[in-house]
Amino acid sequence: MIAKSVEEERRQKAAFLLGVPKPGEAPLDALLVGSLMNVRYLTGFTGSNAWLLLYREGQAKLFTDPRYAVQSKQQANCRIRIAKGPLTKSVVPEIARSGVKRIGFEQDRITVAQFEALRKDLPSRAQLVPVSGLIEKLRMVKDEGEIALVRKSVAINSQALEAALKRLKTGMSESDLAAEIDYRSRVFGADGPSFDTIVAAGARAALPHAHPGAARIEPGMVLIDMGAFHEGYASDMTRMVYLGEADAKYKRAYKAVLEAQLAAIDAVKAGVTTNAVDRAARDTLKAHGLEREFVHSTGHGLGLEIHEPPRIGRKDKTKLEAGMAITIEPGVYIEGWGGIRIEDTVLVTANGCEILTPTGKELREL
Ligand code: ZN
Ligand code: ZN
Repeated sequence: MIAKSVEEERRQKAAFLLGVPKPGEAPLDALLVGSLMNVRYLTGFTGSNAWLLLYREGQAKLFTDPRYAVQSKQQANCRIRIAKGPLTKSVVPEIARSGVKRIGFEQDRITVAQFEALRKDLPSRAQLVPVSGLIEKLRMVKDEGEIALVRKSVAINSQALEAALKRLKTGMSESDLAAEIDYRSRVFGADGPSFDTIVAAGARAALPHAHPGAARIEPGMVLIDMGAFHEGYASDMTRMVYLGEADAKYKRAYKAVLEAQLAAIDAVKAGVTTNAVDRAARDTLKAHGLEREFVHSTGHGLGLEIHEPPRIGRKDKTKLEAGMAITIEPGVYIEGWGGIRIEDTVLVTANGCEILTPTGKELREL
């Protein structure tokens, strides 16, 4: 017997889900996968233009263009169609030939123009059914191979931070430090950054998603939020450094955020709902009188994308499962003063979690 590839197994799991409809709905005959990350997950294909038609019986057909004729054959072990024009033009005849009636499409991923192009040309018996988060749900729990890649990505990210910090000097611009981080990350084995590196100095740290600019890094706080992709898998980490000697206000706020982050990490365990993890962070900040300054959710899943389900926020009730890779990143932001965030990538386990990020979290003065 020939062992099935990881991607084949994933396709089988996904195909099974097509046959398990929501109450009151009929099963789907096929799913048109429009998200490139979902296509990658289900086939291994990493090109920038692709659709996958997955049938409930488990067969699948990948559609891409002539630029990827060779690459698609090397990467994907399913049927492949190289389309000469727009992919919709090749998908329609395939659907018509197969005779399937209920075809799910990823409503968060497909454009209105693509939807119209499909609907216009499909046979009248074919019905397009909007679907949301079906493959993303499968992607939440990582397999061994994926976990190994996340681990490696996290390790590269931490190495890059240490190397970049060796070059940090007063007077350097935020962009210089961000460029240094990106460069080191590549040298250590990243495919590239998993999002635009954030370096925010002084009062600019009050902007949770500051874009590094020409601003000079003066003595005071610096917030660094960075992530790498390694073989497609993301890492995510935020660390604070203080140039010079930290003042009492900074020390107090840092201690509060660190306590909140540790409390949330303590709450992580298979079976716990994500809002309980968020609450652990929020309650801790409340005890320090800082809950109003915590303006975002506690964390998010990550994998092929930097932000994936589950979300770890006040209203999210996803049950954590062993094998989920998530971030824990509470923060406080005070206009005119600055902000503090501490973020690790962690792996959910049956009894708790494993903090994957090796970088220490003690208050750091440089
Ligand atoms: Zn981050
Ligand atoms: Zn994050």
